Amino acid sequence: MSDKNDSLQEKLRALEAIFLQKLPSKFDEITQTLQKVVEQPDDKESMVVLHRHLHTMAGSAGTFGFAEIGAQARVFESTLKPHLEGKAWEAEELKSYADEVNRYFEYALKHDNVPVNGVAESVQEEERDVSDPHLIYLVDEDEAQNQEITVQLEHFGYEIVRINHLGALAKAVATRRPHVIVIELSFPEGKVAGAEEISRIKQIERFRIPTVFVSRSSSFDSRLLAVRASGDGYFTKPVDVVALTERIESLLQLDENKGYRVLIIDDDAVTSKFYGAILRDAGMNVYLLNDPTQILTVMTDFRPELLLMDIYMPVCSGVELSRLIRQDNSYVDVPIVFLSSEADLSKQLDAVRAGADDFITKPVAPEYLKSSIASRAERYRSLRALIMRDGLTGLFNHTAIKEQLASEISQAGRTGSPLALAMIDLDNFKYINDTYGHPAGDQVLRTLARLLRQRLRRSDIVGRYGGEEFAVIFPDTTATTARRVLDQVRLAFTKIQQHCEGGHFSVSFSGGVADLESTLDADELFDIADAAMYVSKQQGRNRISLA
Ligand code: GH3
Ligand code: MG
Ligand code: MG
Repeated sequence: MSDKNDSLQEKLRALEAIFLQKLPSKFDEITQTLQKVVEQPDDKESMVVLHRHLHTMAGSAGTFGFAEIGAQARVFESTLKPHLEGKAWEAEELKSYADEVNRYFEYALKHDNVPVNGVAESVQEEERDVSDPHLIYLVDEDEAQNQEITVQLEHFGYEIVRINHLGALAKAVATRRPHVIVIELSFPEGKVAGAEEISRIKQIERFRIPTVFVSRSSSFDSRLLAVRASGDGYFTKPVDVVALTERIESLLQLDENKGYRVLIIDDDAVTSKFYGAILRDAGMNVYLLNDPTQILTVMTDFRPELLLMDIYMPVCSGVELSRLIRQDNSYVDVPIVFLSSEADLSKQLDAVRAGADDFITKPVAPEYLKSSIASRAERYRSLRALIMRDGLTGLFNHTAIKEQLASEISQAGRTGSPLALAMIDLDNFKYINDTYGHPAGDQVLRTLARLLRQRLRRSDIVGRYGGEEFAVIFPDTTATTARRVLDQVRLAFTKIQQHCEGGHFSVSFSGGVADLESTLDADELFDIADAAMYVSKQQGRNRISLA
């Protein structure tokens, strides 16, 4: 924990260093703009620019630990304000204001001149989430069981590393951190060392690694041991791999849940990096936008779950920008939080009318920033989930997948990129229900949902279109490619063993794929892909057809 804080401290120090490095040029900007105001007191434009510079300085200097500069800039800002709103400058008054501002910044530059240690490079540029396969360590000496579980888990697209020697686990974890550990509880034979080893590793590790125990024993004592080793799951052998993947996925999701997508919009790159570093440190997925004109593209591409924006920006104000965002139906409920040094109540009211959800006044304590952002993003995410997700599979529901397709088609239209849609229908599913029972059928639906999510790219959008029908949107993909990808999923699916009383069974599905070559209309595209799926059914099922 303290290491983690250290690394945040490091980032913050790096940002402070950048801020300090840029301070002279920011002062220059202020004094040069001030000079313009002095030369042409009637030129509103320069006054607006000057006000913005002072305002930014007031907010950011305090944030980076230069409280005095921040406070002084705020005083200069408030003196300027009435003139910005139309009050004429008296020549004397303007001159003494300019002298005072110049004198102060000259003074501040001399007294805050701390050397910069070249740490600037260590600050990361904004990053987008990239999906790696999830890494699972499977720790067991039982080779046959390992083999079996590995093959099944690999169908789901996990990367499995087998470790059949307990002593090798700690080193492996230190070298490459897995997302989940699946480990035999009584290992090596007889002794209950698996649990002990996990406890030990957990003490070493700064972050908890979700851990699932497998064991031949289903006794209370064994299960208790697993609990005491902070186990996140317990499965008796022979392991029901479908149930295991379900557990693994829910553990991974707990992890991912923290990755709230937060879009920070601030014309001041250093300040936004500073807040970005704080939120990334809390596990959030942050996108920094310094140019507000890019907002709409970023909204559709990044799909933020919260917007954190500055009130003052050069192109348009934060209030205008939030109105612009709220004009789009899809964004009426995404939370917008203003990050502002604005103490002016009427400005805040404007922002509230434009749809702001909260204000955070700069400078802000990192802990407060993290918790207020996380709780708002969390609420938004669970609301969205209720509205858009199917209860059984967690996939987009019928309405949501249709909305997604419409928005993806319009995006593809803008960029001229291809897009494919696949319709999937389980084969002989009525028979599955009749033979193994409805709950077993539900299990199959969940398995396919998980498989699709695991095996496809994160940018592919998966929905449950109807009872046993699924739809997948493949952005940036032609029908031919989508068909090939989906065919691999089809093969993997047929190899997954569904457990039932006294054995297991497997299921297949049929699919149809169409792309924008056929039509640009969302409803028509569904129909065309569906028709292709029926061709697969007619030709004997368990295959994917192109429209
Ligand atoms: P085909 O290969 O031609 O698609 O045959 P099929 O049996 O899959 O098709 P049919 O449309 O006759 O049957 C679909 C079945 O899917 C009937 C229905 O009970 C079942 N089903 C629909 N929704 C659910 C669900 O949520 N859970 C379960 N267990 N079954 C469902
Ligand atoms: Mg059907
Ligand atoms: Mg069917």
